[in-house]
Amino acid sequence: MTDDAVQLRSVTRRYGTGDMSVTALDQVSLAFPKGTFTAVMGPSGSGKSTLLQCAAGLDRPTSGLVTIGGTELTELTETELTLLRRERIGFVFQAFNLLPSLTAEQNVALPLRLAGRRPPKARVREVLEQVGLGGRARHRPAEMSGGQQQRVALARALITRPEVLFGDEPTGALDSRTSRDVLTLLRDMVDSDGRTIIMVTHDPVAASYADRVVLLVDGGVNGELTGAGAEYIAARLTTLEALPC
Ligand code: ADP
Repeated sequence: MTDDAVQLRSVTRRYGTGDMSVTALDQVSLAFPKGTFTAVMGPSGSGKSTLLQCAAGLDRPTSGLVTIGGTELTELTETELTLLRRERIGFVFQAFNLLPSLTAEQNVALPLRLAGRRPPKARVREVLEQVGLGGRARHRPAEMSGGQQQRVALARALITRPEVLFGDEPTGALDSRTSRDVLTLLRDMVDSDGRTIIMVTHDPVAASYADRVVLLVDGGVNGELTGAGAEYIAARLTTLEALPC
């Protein structure tokens, strides 16, 4: 048994072949312990999205191993991988990706419906309440603010009680006050519910809510910061941006 929610072992992801090939991730080994919040940062093109996609089973590494809760992803068929993503992983993106014609509660219930399960009303209400939207269950996305929409997206990601929540710039489209609300919620999910969160972000303030910041440069891990404040993270990022390519 391992206490890691996600493990990457010597993960390489290459796009294309021959002279045209790009190594987006170069033998990256990382462990994400259960009940921790990790931010992944780095300059544009450093491999953040590729890391998230490989860790979440949305993309397959060229070589190396990815394990989620002890399940080795490379050994799974596409169908098994789809099931794992549906049952054991939650996602939140910069674009909230809510269905505009559905109410908040219908959007939240969607992952269960897609899995062929009848969404228990009480559970849908429970997760909406958890994100502070108990009173908005019947609202459609257009009737809600950006922050509220992202909280619906968060509730939708939580409905299946995922082992790991992956965020790709989840606060990228929000103003700073609303971002803080969403980040506080994420932090609370780790502290109170023991959830594991892995989040890609450009924003040092967002990253300061994490326990740990993993810094990527050119597809490799350049360093890690633990318990760092926003200013320190911002200063460290500046040194990364200045590295010669
Ligand atoms: P980041 O998220 O840090 O901006 P990415 O993971 O998107 O970085 O990209 C890392 C590298 O891999 C970049 O050089 C990018 O151009 C390349 N890359 C990403 N996706 C593809 C793809 N589908 N085909 C070819 N190259 C890609």
